Amino acid sequence: MSDQCSFCGHAHLTEERARYIHQWGDDLLIVEHVPCLGCEYCGEQCFAIEVLKKIEAEHAALAAHRKQPSRTFQVAVEEFRSL
Ligand SMILES: [Zn+2]
Repeated sequence: MSDQCSFCGHAHLTEERARYIHQWGDDLLIVEHVPCLGCEYCGEQCFAIEVLKKIEAEHAALAAHRKQPSRTFQVAVEEFRSL
């Protein structure tokens, strides 16, 4: 991974853990505490390609019912025009 922010070019990136929301059509998978590099300047978070591939593979396994998620919860959904 580069040691520069891909968004603003700032050089101070720190290792963080973040929530990643992976979308596949209408299906969402939330992964907690995903390792990433966070930009101290703009807050952009950069995930390694291996990390993203792992999340994608997990989502595929869940969608094919080869695995069960650790937990699930309901999410509220709104149309912007109804706000
Ligand atoms: Zn940045």
